[in-house]
Amino acid sequence: MNVPFLDLGAAHDELRADIDAAYARVTGSGRYLLGPELEAFEEEFAAYCSARHCAGVGSGLDALTLALRALGVGPGDEVIVPAHTFIATWLAVSATGARPVPVEPDESTFVLSPCLLEAAFTPRVRAVVVVHLYGHPVDLDAVRAVADRHGVPVVEDAAQAHGARYKGRRVGSGQVAAFSFYPGKNLGALGDGGAVVTDDADLAERVRLLRNYGSCDKYDHLVQGFNSRLDEFQAAVLRVKLPHLDEWNARRARIAHRYTEALAGLPDLVLPSVEPWATSAWHLYVVRTRHRDALRQRLAAAGVETLVHYPVPVHRSGAYKGTEEACRAGALPVAERLAGEVLSLPVGPHLREDGVEAVAATVRNAMEELLRAGRARTGSR
Ligand SMILES: *Cc1c(COP(=O)(O)O)cnc(C)c1O
Repeated sequence: MNVPFLDLGAAHDELRADIDAAYARVTGSGRYLLGPELEAFEEEFAAYCSARHCAGVGSGLDALTLALRALGVGPGDEVIVPAHTFIATWLAVSATGARPVPVEPDESTFVLSPCLLEAAFTPRVRAVVVVHLYGHPVDLDAVRAVADRHGVPVVEDAAQAHGARYKGRRVGSGQVAAFSFYPGKNLGALGDGGAVVTDDADLAERVRLLRNYGSCDKYDHLVQGFNSRLDEFQAAVLRVKLPHLDEWNARRARIAHRYTEALAGLPDLVLPSVEPWATSAWHLYVVRTRHRDALRQRLAAAGVETLVHYPVPVHRSGAYKGTEEACRAGALPVAERLAGEVLSLPVGPHLREDGVEAVAATVRNAMEELLRAGRARTGSR
């Protein structure tokens, strides 16, 4: 048996003819940046998210950074971030010169816990970044209620949640959201890409300035900008994939439900839970167990590829070594525990049914074996 974590080749095969046609359209057009494909994709993706504006940029990290810059975040400011996330969320804050202030996750949904938000506020906090981690949306209304009291905007890091819904609304239909089109995301390009989605026309315009050297008209540089543009080829590929996103997310959801059904009732294995108001995009199916490393080893031996998102909490990484954030290490016990216990099972839209059954059976057998071995060691029955 050989079950890859994510089969991007199969995803490409399904759409090969359309992607080849898109490629040919761009190569022959003579327009490779800031052209008609980008414009069309921006319109289509904004509509998909039920938002008014979309600005394509070079990556998800840039989408977050430019959104924060466009909101006026800079040196001396603080930005609240989840403790449990991919490092890009923190790096975007640091890139503006501001300081990330971490908040612990909820133990069952893994996303930022709104009830801990209030305590993280200081007079220097200028924004809250929430992450719809693993595809599960954050409780946006609860977060916004706290942020509104402090008069700061909420930025959604939706890099793992294209198509996820909060109370029926697609994520990205709020104040401002950053998406990544890294190949492995639910909507992935054939290279790097990202987008800022917002209803705020001025904010969208500022992101458009920032992504293009601070200029709207050539050589008229209004602000010190970046070079971060979603190129025509990636935009054309994303236009081919976008109409398939809901169907691919539905396949992920079917796999997730099958795992949840097949793995229920195993002691020491915590399955992902979904809030009643949430529709997850199931970017990842993440289980928790204190036998994580042993389980992972057994799965690997049986040909099942798994990943860990993420093995080192951001505040423990070398990138934040010696910073004030790192000193909070002891103060973030939930993030620390999760880093040692989470395991992501394959949940890609091109994982076949026999693969799903094989993964579930292998996890079940391995866990039962590990539990038996544990009981034998402690002498209990
Ligand atoms: C992937 C990811 C990013 C960064 O996206 P890139 O396109 O790789 O720069 C940011 N935040 C989260 C939560 C991500 O998963």
